[in-house]
Amino acid sequence: MNIGIIGVGYVGLVTGVGFAHFKNKVVCFDIDQNKINHLNNGDLPIYEEGLDEYLEKAIDSNLISFTNNLDDCISSSDIIFLCVGTPQDKAGAADLKYLIKAVDDIVEVAKKDLILVCKSTVPVGTCDKIEKRINLSNDDNRSKFKVVSNPEFLKEGTALKDFLEPDRVVLGIDDSDYESSKVFFDLYAEIVSDQSLILVMPRRDAELTKYAANAMLATKISFINEIAVISDKYDADIKNIQKGIGADPRIGYEFLNPGCGYGGSCFPKDVKALINKAKEKNIESYVLGAVDKRNELQKKYLADKVKSFFFNKENVTVSIWGLSFKPNTDDIRCASSLDVITELLDSGFKIKAYDPISNASVEEYFNDIGSDILSFEINKYDALKESHGLILLTEWDEFKSFDFSKADDLMLSKNIFDGRNFYDKDEFLSHDWKYSGIGR
Ligand code: NAD
Repeated sequence: MNIGIIGVGYVGLVTGVGFAHFKNKVVCFDIDQNKINHLNNGDLPIYEEGLDEYLEKAIDSNLISFTNNLDDCISSSDIIFLCVGTPQDKAGAADLKYLIKAVDDIVEVAKKDLILVCKSTVPVGTCDKIEKRINLSNDDNRSKFKVVSNPEFLKEGTALKDFLEPDRVVLGIDDSDYESSKVFFDLYAEIVSDQSLILVMPRRDAELTKYAANAMLATKISFINEIAVISDKYDADIKNIQKGIGADPRIGYEFLNPGCGYGGSCFPKDVKALINKAKEKNIESYVLGAVDKRNELQKKYLADKVKSFFFNKENVTVSIWGLSFKPNTDDIRCASSLDVITELLDSGFKIKAYDPISNASVEEYFNDIGSDILSFEINKYDALKESHGLILLTEWDEFKSFDFSKADDLMLSKNIFDGRNFYDKDEFLSHDWKYSGIGR
């Protein structure tokens, strides 16, 4: 099939490369000239495992191309996937300005019938609004548009795998639109192992499914974070509690690891947007409000522990391992590292930070801070030099191995603040380290 991708960010790029892998002809458009230039040179603007290899194959087979010319993208496509950002606005709602601009521009240049697919995460009722807007602006009926919702469930870090082997495909298609249903069953038939994984439902249900999924996962995280805080105060060990509750199949172990709060470009904004959407109908989101509040507190929790541990903060240097919001991605949007660093700098700490991929973007975020206060190191052990404590924020694989004798030689004192409960507490204690985790 001929597919157009609008917005070549984390979702758009993976979607484009994924569809090209299944022999569709894909043309990707983005308003960011710089991004398109990079992609045309074969450079990936993001880090996702395996994406470089799949992109190269798709380019070599002439199945994917990148353009700044919307006309080129629209004229060669029959299905257009809208993958632009839907960030949070000042009120906490989803800001649809990029989406609306993209739709208006498409309607302006379209010269044939198209299926417009909303892959961006959008509040319930957005596809209906898009359709109304198109009908108003497309008064000479140059082209006919069908609007379909197909929310994306990929996870950064395993995005390509999630796209190639989805656990489900949610399609919001109007009951009467048999034609689009057929097109999408054909498109996804190659990708899903079993057709029952394609869940067709009305558009509003598909839109709300996406928010409900993210809100459910965020709820699990905030729940265990709150239990971990209680566990800390009563000298219990959250690891045992996780085992004890996760063994119940109704609860399960997934998303039961406490930490420094959820981050990334989805959970924080999507929980807030859902609260906002409920408010429009005078519904007070008690559960989601608490999920959001616990997350804000949790982002400061580890920094507070570090602050109270070091009585005198002057001339105290701490090391941070891991800056991206989770391992295997370079994404730092709403990453806990940004909150922890801000809190510690405000309290007078000096910081040496290291991340396998995200040093540069965090350095840019804190570009007004001198390197004598906040430095970014080229390897994990450099970050430990003359440090009084190590803070683990992102559980990258390369942090699993820990050379105690090397660390002991480099550091001024042996303290670890394990923000992901990543390390074996007893092992650190046996090497005369002081260990502080989340809820243990
Ligand atoms: P992103 O910020 O990485 O990418 C968005 C891209 O859209 C940017 O490259 C931007 O230049 C481009 N853009 C903006 N306006 C445009 C326009 N008018 N025309 C063409 N391009 C335009 O965003 P993302 O993380 O890929 O997320 C996209 C959507 O998918 C969001 O709604 C998000 O909530 C949702 N989503 C994201 C993830 C994720 O893990 N990142 C997962 C599932 C769903």
